[in-house]
Order: sequence, then C-alpha cells, then structure tokens
Amino acid sequence: NLSDRLDRAFKLLKGEGKITDINVAETVKDIRKALLDADVSYKVAKNFTDDVKKKALGQDVLNSVKPGQMMTKIVHDELVQLMGGEMVDIDIKGSPAVILIAGLQGSGKTTFSGKLASFIKSKKGRQPLLVAGDVYRPAAIQQLKILGEQISVPVYTEEGSKNPVEIAKNAIKFAKDNGHNVVIVDTAGRLAVDEAMMQEVENIKKAVNPSEILFVVDSMTGQDAVNTAKEFNDRLNFDGVVLTKLDGDTRGGAALSIRSVVDKPIKFVSAGEKMDALQVFHPERMADRILGMGDIVTLVEKAQEQYDAEQARNLQKKIAKDQFNFNDFLSQIGQIKKMGNLKDLAGMIPGLGKMMKNIDIDDNAFKGIEAIIKSMTPLERENPAVINGSRRKRIAEGSGTTIQEVNRLLKQFEDTRKMMKMMSGGPRAMGGMMKGM
Ligand code: GDP
Ligand code: MG
Repeated sequence: NLSDRLDRAFKLLKGEGKITDINVAETVKDIRKALLDADVSYKVAKNFTDDVKKKALGQDVLNSVKPGQMMTKIVHDELVQLMGGEMVDIDIKGSPAVILIAGLQGSGKTTFSGKLASFIKSKKGRQPLLVAGDVYRPAAIQQLKILGEQISVPVYTEEGSKNPVEIAKNAIKFAKDNGHNVVIVDTAGRLAVDEAMMQEVENIKKAVNPSEILFVVDSMTGQDAVNTAKEFNDRLNFDGVVLTKLDGDTRGGAALSIRSVVDKPIKFVSAGEKMDALQVFHPERMADRILGMGDIVTLVEKAQEQYDAEQARNLQKKIAKDQFNFNDFLSQIGQIKKMGNLKDLAGMIPGLGKMMKNIDIDDNAFKGIEAIIKSMTPLERENPAVINGSRRKRIAEGSGTTIQEVNRLLKQFEDTRKMMKMMSGGPRAMGGMMKGM
C-alpha cells in the first residue's frame, strides 16, 4: 500500500547526513510512483512531488533529525495542504437546514444519510428528518426506513409518488410542522453520470435551496471517483465531499486527488456499514494514516522547535577545531532536556517506545552530570585538561558526588570529544583511526 511504498522511498534517505539533489531526486521519484499506484492522478502527483522537492532542498537538516524523518515531515505537511489544510464543518444553519445528498448509485448515499442523521442528532443535538428521494427502487425507500428505525430518526416517504422534487418540498413543510430543524434528502443515483440524474438533482436543489450539498463517492473507485466528482461539481457546485468505504482495502488516492481537482473540502469519511462508522474528515489525521508513521511527525516538530540551528553550526565549528568543552556539553544537555521528557520522546519513535519501557531514563538522568559540571571553575570547563587530582577531589565534594563519578564523567567527555572530532573529520580521519588499530 501507499504507506509501505513511501516507507521504502524514505529508507533511501536513511543514514544520509544531508538532503542533497541526488537523494531527493531518487526519493521523490519513488514517492511519485507510490502516489500514482495509489490512483492519484498524474498531474496531482507531479505537482505534489515538485513541491516536496522544492521544500526539501531548501531545508537545513537539523542534526537531531534524520533526513528521512525530515522528508516525512515535509511530505506529511504537503499531504495536509493537498487535502485542504483544515477540517471544514457542515453548515446546518436555517430552519430547517436542508442537506442534499448526491452521488452515483452504490456510492453509499443512503447509508451515509443514515449515519449523518445519527451524527447530527448525537453530536450536534439537532432533530433531523430523513427524506427518501430515491423513488425508482421500492427497496431504496425500505432501506432508509430500516436505517431510520435503527437510529430513531423519522423518515419522510411518499409511497407511490414518482416526483422527488415534490417529495422534498413536502418533506420540508412536514419538518417545519413537526419540529425537525435539519432535513437530509437522500436522492437516486445512476451507475454512471447521465443527464436525467443530473437534471433531477439540480431540480431538487432549486426547489429546496440546501445549505449543504454533499457529494458521496466510493473511495474504492480510484481515478473514476475524481472524474465523477468533477462532473457533479460542474453541475451542482456542491459544498463538500464524503468518502465512503475507506474501511476496505482502499487505495487512498481519491482523497488526495479530489480536493485538488474540484477544490472542495472532504467533510466526512465513512468506514463501515454500521451507523456509527462515520468520521469527520481531518486532513492531519488522514495524512498520518497515509504515512502510517506513528507520531514521528510530532517528534520532528518538537526537535525543530527546540533546536537552534545557529547554535548547531557554532558547535560544529568548535568540534572541528577541537574546542568542544564542558560549557558546550552542559548546553547540549539543556537542549535535550528542553525537548521534553525523554521517555515521552522515545515513545514517539515507533518501536523504540517498547524497548525503552524497562530502561529507566527520566529527566533526572542528567542530574549528577550537571552538578559536577557546575562545580567546575570557568577555566576547568573551558579547558578540562587542567583538571588534576586535587581539582577532581574539590569538584566531587562541591557537587556531592564521588571522585569515581567525576573521573567517569571526565572519561566520557574525553571519549565523546574524540568521537565527535573523528566524525567531523570525515572519512580521512576515520581511515587514520583504522590504520592505528
Ligand atoms: P447508494 O446507492 O448510494 O444509496 O448506496 P448505499 O448506501 O445503498 O450503499 C451501497 C452498498 O455499500 C451497501 O451494501 C452498503 O452497505 C455499502 N456501504 C456503504 N457505505 C459503506 C462503507 O463505508 N463501508 C462499507 N464497507 N460498505 C459501505
Ligand atoms: Mg440509495
């Protein structure tokens, strides 16, 4: 599926220190392929990946975040943008508010009408009325009646009438007389877009002046869903899209393309035949779902917020010149602590959370280290080489630790400094190390 494909694309970036022309080009190609395979239209996929590429190349890679994670964040944010950015609520103003449901036959209109009525009743505290506007199949009226019974919402029907426009008008009058403040009009669909169906829905629209026209589309129909959406929108200028059957083995492409083709928000997602299987559409959540990355996005954001890129560059310079000292060490600890509770942070990385459960790290982990460093004089912090035996004894006493602990920290610091120096020296320095071994 799409998220596996993206996963693989990101793996290409793993271990790379920088987002470069080359690794972005490769990754972007794979992302585009994954999107096309998920039924996103070529034009949408191309625009999308072009944007991602532009953003990725302009980014400074933060030291605390891997390029793959950075790309994930960029792709995530682009997905959210592509799907409209923010969640858009339905408009149920008016007395009564009229919601017109349109779409092809089998797309899930009648099922959704029931779910929406239930949603409006329980979540919005309104008194909905369902209207059976599909007059061509007796079974359709029956289907809506059964759903209405399940959710205890009355269903307005006119047995024998073949005029959905009249039915809708009469239903509104009925609603006014009986205290229903939201009227949901289910309509008939055809297997494919045709003039008679469009004309009929258009006539109903003119007659009842809906505050909300929702276009229902089966997300399993892939690219066709996008074309159908366009035809319905050209004719009805609908207000929002309902994606159904997202519970199946659905390719997420429709959700990605529809918004950019018709420029109308997706408002609901239907995932199941039961009446409570309805979700308000949140672009953020959909992007998370498509990427399937746990909370990695939050993790990257946290790191980004806290990490001062300027400071990172300075540190890099110091390491290169072998000037990394205890003051830098202390500010590094500060940075890590600013990022929040270590356990929370670890929990955001898929897989790592479980591993860390038995290991006790918390914010106190640095307490001893900080105490020791703070007991050093400015000279000692800047120039650890001067810390001899008597200084070690004084530092241990001042920080309430032992000489062994001070020794351990000094050794750790020296090791860290060597490693940093080696890493910043690049392959040549590494080679030199290997030779010496
Ligand atoms: P309509 O012709 O547009 O009114 O479509 P229906 O509401 O009658 O739905 C067509 C079929 O799809 C029915 O068998 C529904 O039970 C099924 N269906 C509708 N919505 C969903 C959904 O979100 N998930 C699944 N799995 N099935 C759905
Ligand atoms: Mg129906």
